[in-house]
Parts: sequence; C-alpha cells; structure tokens
Amino acid sequence: MLDGEQLSYIVSQSCRHYQFSQAIRQRAWVEIDHEALAHNVRELKKLLAPQTELMAVVKADAYGHGVIKVAETVLKNGAIWLAIATLGEGVELRDAGITAPILVLGATNTREEIEAIAHWNLQPTLCTIEQAQLFSETMAKLRQTLPVHLKIDTGMSRLGTRWENAINFVKTVDQAHNLEIASIYSHFAMADEADPSFTYLQHERFKTTLNAIQEQNIPLPKLHIANSAGILLGQEFHYDFVRAGLAIYGAYPAPHLENKVELKPVMQVKARITQIKTLPADTGVSYGHRFVTSDETTIAVIGIGYADGVPRKLSNNLKVLLNGEFAPQIGSITMDQIMLDISHIPDTKAGDVVTLIGGEEGDRQITVDHWANQLDTISWEIMCGFKHRLPRINLNEPRQPNP
Ligand SMILES: *Cc1c(COP(=O)(O)O)cnc(C)c1O
Repeated sequence: MLDGEQLSYIVSQSCRHYQFSQAIRQRAWVEIDHEALAHNVRELKKLLAPQTELMAVVKADAYGHGVIKVAETVLKNGAIWLAIATLGEGVELRDAGITAPILVLGATNTREEIEAIAHWNLQPTLCTIEQAQLFSETMAKLRQTLPVHLKIDTGMSRLGTRWENAINFVKTVDQAHNLEIASIYSHFAMADEADPSFTYLQHERFKTTLNAIQEQNIPLPKLHIANSAGILLGQEFHYDFVRAGLAIYGAYPAPHLENKVELKPVMQVKARITQIKTLPADTGVSYGHRFVTSDETTIAVIGIGYADGVPRKLSNNLKVLLNGEFAPQIGSITMDQIMLDISHIPDTKAGDVVTLIGGEEGDRQITVDHWANQLDTISWEIMCGFKHRLPRINLNEPRQPNP
C-alpha cells in the first residue's frame, strides 16, 4: 500500500519531478552521496595554498547533481563562494535562502539583468568597457554600489578582454562610479592537457597584466585563475580563490592528474528491471533490430532511456551492473527504456535494481569517464546530461548543526 506522501509523489512526478524526489525510488533515479561531496571539498581544500578560499562551481544544476542540496553541503564543508553561469541559476540559489556570495560567470548585458543582479545580491563578471559603462550608469540610477569581477582573456578566447588590452579596461572600471572591483580573473583553456606549456603561457600573461595594473597604481583586488585542473597542477595557480567544478563531484579532469588527490564519485545512476522474458534464437531486439539473438536469450527491460540522459549513441555498447555482474545492453536505446542480456545472471527478478553509473570501487564500477571515453566526449558532458525526469535522491545529507 502506498501512503499519502508516496501517492502525491507519484502524481507530482508526472508534472514536476525532482523537487519531490525524496520519497521513493521508482523507475529510475540519480543518487547523490553528500558524504562523498563533502569529502571531495575537504580533500581539495587540503591542497590549497594557505591564503586560498574555495569557490564551488555549481552551474548547470551543480553539474546535474541538484544545486540547492549541493550548495548547502559544500558551504558546510569549507567552500566560501559559489559560482554559477546564468542569472536564473543565481536567483534559484537566493530563492532557496542561500546567502553565500555568488559569482555569475556568464555575461550579463542588459539593464534588466543588471537590476536583477543588484536585487538578488549577485556579483557579475564584466568583460568589456561598454558593459562596464552600462553597469555603472544603471547602478548610479539605483544609487547603489556593486562589486564586480573583471575577466581577462589570457588565451581561452571566450569571455573577457584580451590581456593586451586589459589595462584600459581595468582603469575604466576602476574610475567608474558605483562599481567596485572585487576580483580580477582569467580561465585556463588547456590545464587538463598533458602538455602544460600553454597553461604556463596563460599564467605569464596573467602575471604581466597584474604587474601592469600595479604600475598604474591601481591596487590589486582578489585574484583567481584555477579550475579543477589548475588546482591539481599546483599552488602557484591558486591565488585568492580557486573555482572548483568537476573535482568536487568526484571526477578527475585528466588521467595524469589522478594521483594528486583521492576523490569519490558523488553521482550514481540506477534504474529498475520492469520485465524479464526469454527470447528464442534469431529474434531481433528493439527499434531497427540492431541486435539479433544468436541463442535463446533472457532479457530484462529497464525503465531508463535517452530521454533520461542515456545517450542513444551507446546502443549495443553499454554495460550495466546487476547483482554484482556486468550485463550488456542490447539493441537500440529507446526514449524511455533499454534492454539487457541477463542470460548469465540467474535469480534476477522484475523490480531488481541495475546500476548504470556507480558500483563498488575497483573492477565493479562504472564511472562517467567510462561513458565519456566510449562516446569520445568529456565527463563534464556526461554528468550534466542526466535529465530532471530522474529524481535526485540525496544520501548522507549533512545534519543541521545543533542550535
Ligand atoms: C565551469 C567553469 C569552471 C569550473 O571548471 P572545472 O573544470 O569543472 O573545475 C571554472 N571557471 C569557469 C570560468 C568556468 O566556466
């Protein structure tokens, strides 16, 4: 029998998903291990230079992990700042009562956005002189002063003023009314590559820019340049803040950086067997019959598909864990379901849980890196690819401190 909470959860699942996710594990879900998350933050903090604070990057719903709970855990375990990409992501955090300082990494260019930033007590990234002027005018009208963060492009060629032109930009913002330079920062393009030479070049450009700023008698504000890979490369890149994304979620930016710290995966993706049946030899499976049984085969149908974030490109090339064994997925991955060959795993029943990402540390573990390697992409994309149709189940959440 379902109790009232479970029933209302099932009903709510059809319209709004993960806000109601704490009740039960049904068809398929993502488990978020807050103890692992806290461990990763604490381990990363141990690597930091003495003056360095940790800014947790929680953009894109905390890389798919569920931003509000993640923010609470990282802030309780030593992160001081949060960073997000869009204004909406910042508002979501404030709306949930999070009061930590929040840096908006993405660009904000209109008066409406500037007013919202001020209203929600967010801190913007400024990238151009024109943008700074609009911010200054808008803040003057509001009769408020806004802390702003200046982005210097040292070689990523994304947001920011290029380092050769940085002095004019910094001087303009320094003299602008109603703006206060809270930090100057840059972003690495190749810190996860085996060859560190471009990272050193970017760092040299950053230092040259900082020297030039000091020569103009502009005092240096807080400084930051390191992403996860930059953190693992060494303390020379740590400055006042580091912006840690991927690593707090327990994945490594590159194999050669794995020996620097011991991280624990935070995310597991699981789903249930919804039906089991035996097929005769020569039977096609799933759309297009891209798999045909060669012998009598016992298959399991699983309630998860590409609409949940299991890429269809993995069809016939995916393994999951079932009762401690690997089971191959067979046939095309469909929108809501996949099929497994479970002939070699006896005593399996409908309702059993399979693990798509996760498992025991060691040989019986599937990581986001495995999927990323198979798909010729990066773990960042796999992590944030799991859709909101999968409820996030939070495990080992930190307790409220005693009043
Ligand atoms: C996403 C992002 C980060 C975090 O990068 P990770 O490699 O995930 O640690 C840091 N800084 C900026 C500007 C970003 O956009």
